[in-house]
Amino acid sequence: MFWWRKEVRPGVSVAFSDSNAGNLALHVADNPEDVMVRRSRLETAAGLGERHFQYMNQVHGIAVEFITGHGDGPTADAMVSRGQPLAVMVADCVPIVLLGEGLGSTTPVLAVAHAGRAGVVADIVSATVTEMRSHGATAISAWLGPSICGECYEVPGQLRAEVAAVVPETWATTRWGRPALHLPAGVRAQLEALGVTVEYSGECTLETAQLYSYRRNQQTGRFAGLVWTHERGVVA
Ligand SMILES: [Zn+2]
Repeated sequence: MFWWRKEVRPGVSVAFSDSNAGNLALHVADNPEDVMVRRSRLETAAGLGERHFQYMNQVHGIAVEFITGHGDGPTADAMVSRGQPLAVMVADCVPIVLLGEGLGSTTPVLAVAHAGRAGVVADIVSATVTEMRSHGATAISAWLGPSICGECYEVPGQLRAEVAAVVPETWATTRWGRPALHLPAGVRAQLEALGVTVEYSGECTLETAQLYSYRRNQQTGRFAGLVWTHERGVVA
């Protein structure tokens, strides 16, 4: 169910699902009722009770939405909340979960972001951190879920040059010697430049059978990066 799960602060957990949790996306060719059953199972496993993870309609943009309660997902590539559980879906792109201490409040500031190649170039990271800080977040930490690595993500040389001109840390070469992009390295650099501490960085999706990878199989599902609040000490 969970590839990785941790109570990262007392009463706040971060997790990344795996293919045992199944496809969680409604936008791929899958039965919507099956997807909703899987989402419900995931919420039960996370101990959400009557609450739900908020998903979003991801479009490789840099829109960030502040979420106050569960409802129809916004069209956005990042969400920020003061406690509403959040989910970001991926299969090779970088799922980013962020957590900030709430200034003058014990309520943490939660966030998720979807960083594919376009999101790294457009700097969805900066847009998300700015929104978090506008809601009082201080001392922000980030968890990067599994994503395709720089030794696997081959791209045309021209594209590598264009992306690396914006984010130099993405420049990479595949293990078979072709031009590549290392998106998680780019995301990490963007986060650290903003003073955000990266506490975890996941494995390569293409190399891990238990995770979904679009480059390995274009008929694939999506797994999720998740953040939620709960009673202290509730850990699987
Ligand atoms: Zn890899």
